[in-house]
Amino acid sequence: MNEEKPKLIVDGKRLDGRSFDELRPIKIEAGILKRADGSCYIEMGKNKIVAAVYGPREVHPKHLQDPSKAVIRYRYNMAPFSVEERKRPGPDRRSIEISKVSKEALEPVIMKELFPRSGIDIFVEVLQADAGTRTACLNAASVALIDAGVAMRGIVTAVAVAKVDGQLVLDPMKEEDNYGEADVPFAFLIRSGKIESITLLQMDGRMTAEELKKALELAKKGAMEIYAVQRDAIMRKYRSEEEVE
Ligand code: UDP
Repeated sequence: MNEEKPKLIVDGKRLDGRSFDELRPIKIEAGILKRADGSCYIEMGKNKIVAAVYGPREVHPKHLQDPSKAVIRYRYNMAPFSVEERKRPGPDRRSIEISKVSKEALEPVIMKELFPRSGIDIFVEVLQADAGTRTACLNAASVALIDAGVAMRGIVTAVAVAKVDGQLVLDPMKEEDNYGEADVPFAFLIRSGKIESITLLQMDGRMTAEELKKALELAKKGAMEIYAVQRDAIMRKYRSEEEVE
């Protein structure tokens, strides 16, 4: 990129006015699609994403079935209009890679052994992107899985940390992602309200080992805040179902 790098931290604040350890505003709504078994809409800053879950259901083609557990499939897709420069429709290397690592980030939380021969399909559609889409998609997919009633060991919550102008910042937006020195998306398995393990960790750029340790702590703090919003969305959905009954 030939553009000149803008100053990303001015007077101790980020370009959008956030402090270093502050998340973008988050909105999560569960059960927004009628035809999916489970679904979720999420906004994290300017990201707008829909997740839909189908299953557990029969796997087609049949040779993909596993007699001992469910097969999980995850498709990350960006709408052509979701980014500044129109994206060519259909899968590309980036979306195939994101789909693979996201599937692996969710697999440990799903009780696959309870659903032999069946499949669970997770679709995430990015309608508007502003950095951190893979992590926002995972947050939505987790809520959609719970909404579908899939048996889970906990929940997956994801957030990135970036290094910009030498400073670690939580949940980077587009400018910070573009011009920062490093970007580290994390996903955590949260069980009984506690972070139990890391299920995704990637890094672009350069950080010292000490900074990476600090980034992990910052990401954990952000993840616990996102987890509260995920929980709230699930509770709201169940409460509204109870009211209808
Ligand atoms: N992006 C884009 N066009 C593309 C892919 C990405 O404009 O084809 C933007 C989009 O805003 C995305 C950001 O670049 O959120 C960062 O992309 P990255 O690959 O780091 O993944 P993400 O941070 O979204 O998980």
